[in-house]
Amino acid sequence: MSSIKFEDLPLAESLQRTLRKQDYTIPTPIQAQSIPAQLEGRDLIGCAQTGTGKTAAFALPILHHISENPKPLRRGRARTLVLTPTRELAIQVGKSFSTYGSNLRLRHALVYGGVSQRPQVRDLERGVDILVATPGRLMDLMQQGYIDLSDVEFLVLDEVDRMLDMGFVHDVRRISKALPPKRQTVLFSATLTRDVEKIADEYVTNPVRVSVTPEKPVLDSIHQEVCFVAQENKMPLLQAYLRGQGDRSGIHSTIVFCRTKYGCEKLSKQLNKHGFRSDAIHGDKSQGARQRALNNFRSGKLPVLIATDVAARGIDVRSISMVINYDIPEAADSYVHRIGRTARAEAEGNAVTFCTIKDVGLLAQIEKFIGKKIDIDTDHPFHDARAADHSSHHSRRPQGKKYGARQRAMRNGRPNVQYKGQFRKRDNRGRARLGNR
Ligand code: AMP
Repeated sequence: MSSIKFEDLPLAESLQRTLRKQDYTIPTPIQAQSIPAQLEGRDLIGCAQTGTGKTAAFALPILHHISENPKPLRRGRARTLVLTPTRELAIQVGKSFSTYGSNLRLRHALVYGGVSQRPQVRDLERGVDILVATPGRLMDLMQQGYIDLSDVEFLVLDEVDRMLDMGFVHDVRRISKALPPKRQTVLFSATLTRDVEKIADEYVTNPVRVSVTPEKPVLDSIHQEVCFVAQENKMPLLQAYLRGQGDRSGIHSTIVFCRTKYGCEKLSKQLNKHGFRSDAIHGDKSQGARQRALNNFRSGKLPVLIATDVAARGIDVRSISMVINYDIPEAADSYVHRIGRTARAEAEGNAVTFCTIKDVGLLAQIEKFIGKKIDIDTDHPFHDARAADHSSHHSRRPQGKKYGARQRAMRNGRPNVQYKGQFRKRDNRGRARLGNR
């Protein structure tokens, strides 16, 4: 946390009142570093760990501007556009705007797929101060002429890395073409690779870059462990963990990540059969069912939520005490996002990753990405010593001599391959070169 207080920031009194009511006294580091620049009207690219208050970091300056510069709203127009990669995140961001703007007279609308468009069109009719949308439905409504983005003063891309890599990049480009060039643009993400940053640069002008400990993408308050386990023992191991959590009593909330939608459904059914109340959220479920599951989970009625990566991005449920990676994530940055569902708002959290012998390569990539070795939990009856062995062997590999002749040659920049019709000749330093006969 930073030493400045919210009351030191030049935010409108109506916002200060809300912040006091919410018991927010000290801005989180990302808020402290990004709010002043945004209040000066600067574009911004922000990178911060998940659960560190990014939503308020962009919502407060926007709300301040709107409260200080009220304007009559125009039919089908929006003053602010916030794009999010998932419907759940759109709903959550919309709620945050309602909370933080509760003392302002604001109109906001949500636009996302999987539900009837009629109420959304109705909300847009009188114009809105804030529009929170997922790209697909927004494009739909734009094409039908229900929304005109030419009055947008603020553009926010939340979870921008995912926006740009989940196949949204073309939609986002098309949407941005409908926006006026003179606007304030803010991009936020938990992880920001150089490639993503290059694309992100297309949307901003002379941005302020704010980064909160990017070299440590995972919060220290998350206690991380890995369990080496055979595929067929994952289910009993999961049950053992859930029993340890006391989830049957509903005191703790656990989110379990699976690789596939089918896997989520199957696991949820199996858990329910064994007496653990659970539900699944993923892209194939209706929006109503997804929202119901999430609300039950949030209120504590449902102790276990099973999710795919897509469905769980950005979800903020305060009481999640444990994240279980039933299937190891395929991308190292997904690991950071998944485990960031726990330890929200300064709380402590646990993250356990199940790793089979086939997954040790992915585990090594994750450990490289987060810059540390994850503790191994051997204190359970399903420990797979072979997988553990394989893993320690695998992590030594970069310095070891396990590379084959071909890999060794590739690493040295000399392909050890000979094609038909080609022969090897030596250059003047004796290095093999391919040539044509
Ligand atoms: P976010 O990263 O925006 O999803 O926020 C994570 C959680 O932190 C949410 O539950 C917010 O309500 C909470 N939060 C955000 N900013 C502050 C703050 N300055 N003080 C206390 N809690 C905060």
